[in-house]
Amino acid sequence: MLNNKKIKNLGYCRSCINDVYGLNLKKEDVFIYEFPGQCKNCKRMGNIVAQVRPSKTWKLLGARESDG
Ligand SMILES: [Zn+2]
Repeated sequence: MLNNKKIKNLGYCRSCINDVYGLNLKKEDVFIYEFPGQCKNCKRMGNIVAQVRPSKTWKLLGARESDG
């Protein structure tokens, strides 16, 4: 199941998390790292999601699980 521990390990930008997991996380739903980084999915430099706000983690319940 997708959770903040997993999100932290992913190192994905918000749009990749939304694409890969079928979510609709908004800018205000997540915390990003202070400095831009390279997304491990799309390889673009951008704002990498550090975690989803605790009050918004319910959104992760609808995540589509990818393999592994
Ligand atoms: Zn990305």
